[in-house]
Amino acid sequence: MKVKRPKISQAVVDGFAAIIDAQDKKGLEKYDRSIDDAVDEDYDWKLMALEEMADYSKYLVREIRRLRNALDSFLNRDLTSLALLDVNQERIAQNAKWGLQRHDYPFWLTILVEEVGEVSQAMQKDCTSYKNSDASDLYKELIQVAAVAVAIAEQVKENDATL
Ligand SMILES: [Mg+2]
Repeated sequence: MKVKRPKISQAVVDGFAAIIDAQDKKGLEKYDRSIDDAVDEDYDWKLMALEEMADYSKYLVREIRRLRNALDSFLNRDLTSLALLDVNQERIAQNAKWGLQRHDYPFWLTILVEEVGEVSQAMQKDCTSYKNSDASDLYKELIQVAAVAVAIAEQVKENDATL
């Protein structure tokens, strides 16, 4: 009689059957007999089962750790890429608005510190002492600080190259 199972249950049954068949084949090749023909005195079945349980637990912990590390590195890489893309987008917007900017370093510092000040305002947005400002988007302000720093770095690179 064919049992009608939920798809997930059927996948578990099929997966286990495939593993059991593969294990039987491996056992037959290794011991030259099936488990049906094994001699009880040659084996401590309870101990073997406990050993397999111990390994099972270790494998599960190891796999969970592997997946967590893979997820962490994927998320970190993804967030870094997204933020850097936004910095690049901001640099493009700055160039479109101001053209190629070349300033002396004290003037650059003024621009950079002004942007840092907006980060500070955005961070204090929900504090009671918050001063009204349009610097309300912390992420956007941080990207602007990074983009100004990149613009300065471009000029430093250019100066180094022409020395
Ligand atoms: Mg800003």
